[in-house]
Amino acid sequence: MIEHRLKKHIETYGGITVREYQDVLLFDPTDGYYANSKVIGKSGDFITSPEISQAFGEVVALYFVNQWYQMDCPPEVLLIELGPGRGTLMLDMIRTFKQFPDFWNVVCVYLVEVCPSLMQQQIDCLGNDIKHVSSLAIVPEADVQFIVANEFFDALPVEQFVCSNANETRERVIHYSEKDGFYFEPHTDEEYIIEKSASSMIIIDEIKRRLSNGAGMALIIDYGDTHETTPDNFQRVGDTLQAVYQHQRVSVFDCMGKADLSHHVDFGTFQKALAPLRMECMTQGTFLIQNGINERTDYLAKRDNRIAAALRTGAARLTAPSAMGSLFKILIVNS
Ligand code: SAH
Repeated sequence: MIEHRLKKHIETYGGITVREYQDVLLFDPTDGYYANSKVIGKSGDFITSPEISQAFGEVVALYFVNQWYQMDCPPEVLLIELGPGRGTLMLDMIRTFKQFPDFWNVVCVYLVEVCPSLMQQQIDCLGNDIKHVSSLAIVPEADVQFIVANEFFDALPVEQFVCSNANETRERVIHYSEKDGFYFEPHTDEEYIIEKSASSMIIIDEIKRRLSNGAGMALIIDYGDTHETTPDNFQRVGDTLQAVYQHQRVSVFDCMGKADLSHHVDFGTFQKALAPLRMECMTQGTFLIQNGINERTDYLAKRDNRIAAALRTGAARLTAPSAMGSLFKILIVNS
């Protein structure tokens, strides 16, 4: 059991960092969260936008098609999805692309996935023609690249640091004792937590490199904040690490290896790193409404009465500020 192994590890070697803790809980090949194939969807732990309504993937797909026309229809496009989950977003996008054969004929799809069981689900959903790689860095170079990542960056590990006003910083550590169980090393009221995600920044730098060398666009969709960044290293403050098990929030020390661990994506820091590329960041609600989710939903609902109510509820959930419309943001990055 993962819990037992972590206890033994801490007893023998001392506390572990938040980053090490997430690495084991999420990616351990036998007991880690992603080794279990039922993580996403109604029967899994969390439900993502493409699983809520097909209109989500259709709107995103049309955004790419429109961009391709605006670029005067380049003859080759690499379409890269980071962390495709069950493959639902790509399935909805491909169905939409097939309505635009001029575009679809020039597209080559790459999926970036590390979890073997989800990779298998993606093959079952999309067929064998799709190419899989384990990292964006090994996707071939191309003149035109379209990149999409939905709820990908929130799943990557974060490092947490305890800071004081005296500018002292130490990495936040998790301990274990028989009496207290797992616990964070205590800190004083004056000290505060900051987060950084080195793994996210490596991928953001790779997106920047690709869009700086060639043409294209990246759509990064996730829950998170767009705090202002200043040249003097403004840093978001706060602990955003959270655990979700079967659609309920639990403590990050509960349901180890069974609960999803994620964090609020720091879009402000992404934007700072991606500059001077052209960017626009808006809420998911604004993006979907501006790009026709309500019209598409009406059309689909009129066509099939049996799913009309589910489609309307789905669109409302994706766009309403009280649901996913405001917390979720989309960062549109242009070459
Ligand atoms: N985009 C999907 C799934 C989000 S869950 C959806 O919207 O439904 C996060 C996805 O990222 C999973 O497919 C997970 O296996 C994958 N993933 C996590 N870390 C990764 C990494 N370092 N590289 C590639 N994929 C990763």
